[in-house]
Amino acid sequence: MDSICNQLLNVKGTVVEDARIVDSPLRPVPVLEIRVRPRKGMPRCPRCGRRRHGYDQGGGVRRWRHQDFGCWRVELVASMPRVDCPECGVVVARVPWAEPGSRFTKDFEAECAWLMGVASQKTVSGFLHVAWRTAGDIARRVADRLRTAMPSPFDGLTAIGVDETSHRKGHTYITVVVDHERHRVIRARDGYGRDVFDLFFQQLTEERKASIRVVTGDGARWIDPCVAAHCPNAERVLDGFHIVSWMTGALDQVRRRLWNDARRAGDEEATKRMRGAKYAVLKNPGDLTDRQNDALGAIRNTDPKGQPYRAWQLKELPRTLLKHPLDQARGELNHWVFWASHSRIPEIVELSKKIRRRRPDILRTIRLGCSNARLEASDDRIKVTIRMAYGFHHVTNLIALIMLRCGGPDIRLPQPAI
Ligand SMILES: [Zn+2]
Repeated sequence: MDSICNQLLNVKGTVVEDARIVDSPLRPVPVLEIRVRPRKGMPRCPRCGRRRHGYDQGGGVRRWRHQDFGCWRVELVASMPRVDCPECGVVVARVPWAEPGSRFTKDFEAECAWLMGVASQKTVSGFLHVAWRTAGDIARRVADRLRTAMPSPFDGLTAIGVDETSHRKGHTYITVVVDHERHRVIRARDGYGRDVFDLFFQQLTEERKASIRVVTGDGARWIDPCVAAHCPNAERVLDGFHIVSWMTGALDQVRRRLWNDARRAGDEEATKRMRGAKYAVLKNPGDLTDRQNDALGAIRNTDPKGQPYRAWQLKELPRTLLKHPLDQARGELNHWVFWASHSRIPEIVELSKKIRRRRPDILRTIRLGCSNARLEASDDRIKVTIRMAYGFHHVTNLIALIMLRCGGPDIRLPQPAI
């Protein structure tokens, strides 16, 4: 029994002393309790990892949750001797099966992290029976382990992107830097603005900075001077999907203003029309459902020269523009700015000023052909992850989850060590 347990446990340097089933009314499920100890030899200090002399047996007994065996909950139990480390003091010795401070074995944590990379919060907590907050702590530990084992993600960068996203309803911001070539997040930090982006560049050697040719980002003003200061060879490029999102933002403002006007004027017909078009105006023509098509048709038929329909027509250009060849795009952009600035729709006029100001950047985006769909997909994945991490205790756990899910680490499920 003990030798089978030893094989099943699959942890190097561990000896199984005893195994028993504990079925106590105090526990929600029966537990297979496995008593273990580290293989003989000098114990290690958990902080510096060096072999140190034993101090005493004073650390007491601890338990670690391991992967279930079938429907049995499995716990490792071991007494915790202490070591005397000249650098770190008297501390509880390191054990081979778990990280210091964790109440889970490394194999359990690896499985949990793997699952967090591919599944939803509900699946992870429900399947593994761990509280979501606890899963956040696990994500942090596994992300730390993987980072030290992986080669630096900052080597050989040529095109990077920076984006800031809010979480906790806009109270906190996270700045994320992505590697466009390898399609992964290379850095996530809480905070936003130039200082945070500067900190990222401070981690790069001069050689690494010089290899960066393209930096993408939204229209935030702090990005330009920061890129100019750190990356002498880089061109600053606007993310295509940000250009599109400016337009949808302006369009939504138009719709909301008109809806409010109609409501105030007591025009029920118009209010209903605007409400029906709420989602239709934001969508691309190919993606409209039948009902939304009808809603848009109602607006066009009642008022083809009216603001919402004209605004919707103007929206189409920034979206298709990015797919056209440069010369054609240049002409279309000038044409669009002309029409938008003469549209007499205040929100669209305002947007036309912004687009005119950003014209060189937009044309550069088109020239360099940074794949828009892919950028948007990775941006979406980051946003989904941030929503997933809602309920975590610390922002460091959220950042760890972003790195696990979007940083492309090599998370492996535990394998038998035979
Ligand atoms: Zn030490």
